[in-house]
This record gives sequence, C-alpha cells and structure tokens, in this order.
Amino acid sequence: MGRQELGAERRERKEIVVISPHFDDVPLSLGESLRSGLLSMHRVRVRVAFGRTNWTSRMHPTPERARVVSKWRRLEETAAGVMFGYRWTAANWSEVVLRDGNLDSSSFLDPLVDLGDDPLVSDVAEWILDIADSTVHGKRNALGRRTGSGATSPDLILVPAGLGGHRDHMIIAVAAAGLLGRLGVPVGFYEDRPYSAYLSSVERAEHIGRLDSSLEPRRVSGPIRRSTQQMVRACYPSQMTSYFTDAMDLDRDSKDVDTVWFPSGKAPEWLSE
Ligand SMILES: [Zn+2]
Repeated sequence: MGRQELGAERRERKEIVVISPHFDDVPLSLGESLRSGLLSMHRVRVRVAFGRTNWTSRMHPTPERARVVSKWRRLEETAAGVMFGYRWTAANWSEVVLRDGNLDSSSFLDPLVDLGDDPLVSDVAEWILDIADSTVHGKRNALGRRTGSGATSPDLILVPAGLGGHRDHMIIAVAAAGLLGRLGVPVGFYEDRPYSAYLSSVERAEHIGRLDSSLEPRRVSGPIRRSTQQMVRACYPSQMTSYFTDAMDLDRDSKDVDTVWFPSGKAPEWLSE
C-alpha cells in the first residue's frame, strides 16, 4: 500500500454511536477524546436513554418538574453537541430518581446491584439491537437492503461501563454485556465520570472484570485538560455540584485519560493513533 493510500485510509471517518444514560454523560466521560483524541477523528452520534428527567442541582426534583427539567436538559445537550461536535437524539425512559422517587444516592449507586428482575435491562437491550441494526436482529428486506429510515449501521457502539454503580448506567452496561458476540458491531465500554474518579484502580479493575472477564482498556485521549472540563461545566450548569467539580480536580491531578474497554482482540484497528 502506497503512502497516499495509507493516508486516505487514515482519514476515513467512521460512524460511532455513543449511548449516554443521561444528558451530560458523554462530554463528562469522553469530552477530551471528542475534542482532541480518537473520537475527534470520526463522526459521533449520541443516543440518550433516560431522556425523562427531573434531576438538577438547582431545584427540588418533584415528579411535576420532569417536563420543564427535561426541556432544560435538552437545551444543555444541544449546546454540548455544538461545542463537542456531535448530533444527538433521546429515548424517553425515566431516569432512576423519577422512577423510584428516592433521592438518597445510596439507593441508586450500587456496583453490586442485582438487575436480574429489572425489565429495563431487556428493554434497553432491544433498543441497542435496533441501534446496531445488525443482520443478527434481522432488519433487512428481501433485497437485503435496510428497511425503515435508511439509517446505516454504525461502525462502533460505545456504552457506559457502569463504574461507580449508578443504576441507569448499570442497566445499559449489563444489557450491552449480555449482547457481546451477538451484535454485528464492535462494542466498547467507556469510563463513567464523575463516579470513576472516586474509585481506586483496583476497584475499577474489579468492576470491569465483573462485567466481562475479557475486557481490556484502550486510551482514547491524552490527559484531560482544564479547558475541556470548563467546557463541560459551561454546558451543564443544571448538574454541577461539588461532587462533579471535585471529581474533575481528581481526574486532572491524576492526569487521567479517557478510557474505553474492549473484549480482548475486538477493538477496531481504525480506532488508534
Ligand atoms: Zn449519568
């Protein structure tokens, strides 16, 4: 292969879908990669799962406030899409605080939660299958063409790893882990911020191992910069508490990078420097 051809291949932009539990998770967790790392070289579409939300740091999250808060958070996501360079759409599942009405974070932050009885896991798995639109799932007409809106399969799907055990993140992580090997699209699990900042490297490794024993990390950005964190803070004023900003300080102090875990040998070759 000649040098020019190599260059052309390197410049080919792939289509990456990033599943986001809530409005805010993708710039929080992959913002540096979107700005200056491996994700910045490709087209990124974000699909938000829990688009019905009443959670902000600014007002008490009564169920009645879900409508106005959801609109507010959609505006924030639109700003983030412009600043970080992605398009987004949202599904309409209710986030955990709205489902359970329990504001105590210990009720929804549990890395060892048993989701065996939660019907959302299979609902979300179906949704991911639709996003992958794989031949396994069968969405082609008799001519082998894709049916429906004409959307094409992505080249890669990224999902949260559930680090820190937020229930909504765990639902997506467990659903995706159950689909490994069945999707016609590679899947990677990204580090969940701000929660992961509070975990030791041992705790992170134990969590990833519980998800799937074959997962291996790949760095997808350089060290997270203060300017990237300032952009995230500017995009999501409704979410910023000291829990978030302290986590940003920890990430910067430890020179943390954006990380995605792939099943052994399954990371796409084109996702490299
Ligand atoms: Zn989240």
